[in-house]
Amino acid sequence: MKLHFLGTGGAFARTHTNAWFEEPREDGRRDLYLLDLSMLHVQAAETLVREETGEIYVLLTHMHDDHCSGIGLFIEWCLLLKGRIVNILVQEALAQDVRDYLRIIGVPEEMYRLITFSVQMEMAGVTVTAIPTRHTPALAGKCFGFCLETGGQRVVFTGDTATLEPFIPWLTEGAELYTEMAYHHGNVHLRWEEQKTLLLPLAKKCSVFLMHMDDEEALRRETEGTGIRLVTL
Ligand SMILES: [Zn+2]
Ligand SMILES: [Zn+2]
Repeated sequence: MKLHFLGTGGAFARTHTNAWFEEPREDGRRDLYLLDLSMLHVQAAETLVREETGEIYVLLTHMHDDHCSGIGLFIEWCLLLKGRIVNILVQEALAQDVRDYLRIIGVPEEMYRLITFSVQMEMAGVTVTAIPTRHTPALAGKCFGFCLETGGQRVVFTGDTATLEPFIPWLTEGAELYTEMAYHHGNVHLRWEEQKTLLLPLAKKCSVFLMHMDDEEALRRETEGTGIRLVTL
């Protein structure tokens, strides 16, 4: 599994941190997995839907605009222009919010397939485990990171989070960690100054990537020579 990014920034940046990967199937097709989808990246996501694409999954971390505002338009484009149904994959705490959100923007449940799970979900070749985390008070209990496993490879994706704690047990030797990181403002996000004592030694055991950045230049300067990398487009 190779994670690609449609955007690398936080909510107020020019691009939003949405990611994707493909998983080959036995029949030669490739399932497409999008990790969140902002309105900014719907057109880019459309280019990923090809003839040989198998199932289309959108895995949502939480309901902030920079993570979910593109799903309605993407569902409509896939169905109305390509005849393809989008699978929205969420932890069950988000199920009703997704239904309500899509209904309000005119996307009834017949237009997509909502797949919910409590802890873990086995897709074809991919195991998805939801990791509940703390982000903003308004979305308490409704923010998730994920552990994605395929062929012995483990990817831990934090989504938006104010703490790394729930992810630590998943960070085994050789795992890849994609963590959100702010340079200037913490509070509902992780701030480099407060996290670096944890992340710098962790980078010797895992591959650490920063995403959802508010100041890439500053974070690049801070991480130079540390082994910690910034995600790129
Ligand atoms: Zn965000
Ligand atoms: Zn958020």
